[in-house]
Amino acid sequence: MNFDLDNITIERGCADTPLATRVIRANANRAPVSYVDDARELAKPDARSLDPFGAGKRRMIVARRKTPFLMSCPAGSSRFACCGYLVLTLASNCPMDCSYCFLQEYLADNPAFQVYANFTESFGELDRLIHTAPEKHFRVGTGELADSLAFDSMTAMSRDLIEFFSARETLTLEFKTKTDEIENLLAVDPRGRVLVSWTLSTDAVFRNSEHRTAPPSARIAAARAVLDAGYRVAFHFDPLIAYENAERDYVELIDELLDTMHPKNIAFISIGGLRMTPGLRSAARRRFPNDAMLCGEDVLAADGRYRTFTPLRLKLYRAIAERFRICGAEVPAYLCMEPAAIHERVFGNVPSRPAAVGERLASS
Ligand code: SF4
Repeated sequence: MNFDLDNITIERGCADTPLATRVIRANANRAPVSYVDDARELAKPDARSLDPFGAGKRRMIVARRKTPFLMSCPAGSSRFACCGYLVLTLASNCPMDCSYCFLQEYLADNPAFQVYANFTESFGELDRLIHTAPEKHFRVGTGELADSLAFDSMTAMSRDLIEFFSARETLTLEFKTKTDEIENLLAVDPRGRVLVSWTLSTDAVFRNSEHRTAPPSARIAAARAVLDAGYRVAFHFDPLIAYENAERDYVELIDELLDTMHPKNIAFISIGGLRMTPGLRSAARRRFPNDAMLCGEDVLAADGRYRTFTPLRLKLYRAIAERFRICGAEVPAYLCMEPAAIHERVFGNVPSRPAAVGERLASS
C-alpha cells in the first residue's frame, strides 16, 4: 500500500530506537521529519483543518507509550476477557479511511497516527501474563485501534511480533487488516501461532466507503498467500451494509473467496451489521456526506446504537450463513455484537459460550 504522510514527528527520547530508525529509512525523505520532546499536544486535532480527523491520519508520530500495551477486549467484562481475547495497542489510528469507522468518534480528540517506539515492552507484559496462567491459552489481537498491517512496510513491527509469538506455545497472535501488506509476513515462519484476518466487503462497499483500503480481491489473494506460508486465516463480514443488491453481491464475494481457498482452511468467520452510535453517525455523515451506504434504514437499538432494520440485516446474515453452510465444510461462525436470540434465528442453535469459542481458537 502507498499511503501519503504530510509529516513525521519523532519524540527525541525515541530517536535511536529501531522503530524510529526503520521509519526514517523507509520514508526516504518523502515527508518532512521533525523532533520534539513530548508529542502529546501534536496528537490532538488541528483546529485549522476542515477535517481534523482526516488530517490526523496523515501525521505520523513516533512516541513512547506511557500506559500498558495489553488490555482486555472491550467486549470483555473481567480484567482478562472471558474468551481469552486480549488487545495489544501498538499504534493508534489508521491511514485508511472507512466512512463507518468507529475511530472517527473514539479518537476524535487524538487523531494523529501514532506508533509506539517502545512496543517491544509489550513482550514483557505478555510474558508476565503467561507466567501467571501457564495452563491457559490467550489470543492477542493488534487490530483494535489501528489496522494491524497498515504501514508495516515502514515499521516492520510484524516481524518482531511473529518471532515473539511463534516461540510461545500458549499465545496466538491475530493481525486484522484491510490491506494486502504481507511482505514481512512472508519472510518469517509463524510456526502455526499467527492468524491473519481480513474484513471482506463487496466491491460496492469498498468503492463507496473504504477509502485507501486494498480491493476485496487483493485481500483474498493476500489471504491465500499467507495461508500458503503457514498462517491461519479468518474473515470478518462486518459491517454488512444492506444496500440494494447487497445479498447478491455478498454471495458473489463468498463465491470468490471459496474459489480461492477450501473452507476447511478458514479458521472462522464473523458476521456483523452496520452499527453506529449517534456520535459516530453524525461524524461519519459530516465527513462523508455523499456516502449513500451510511443512509440505509436504521433504528436506534436498546444498546444506544443505530442498527440496520432487523429484517434487513437478518436477511443478509442468513444469506451469508447459508452460503457457507452449503459449501460442505463447517466453518466456525459467530455474530458480532448481536444477542443470542438473533444468533438462534440465523444459525438455528444457541451460540457457544464466548469462552468456549475463544479457547477453541486460541488452542487449535
Ligand atoms: S481499515 Fe479499519 S481502522 Fe482503518 S479506517 Fe477502515 S475501519 Fe477504521
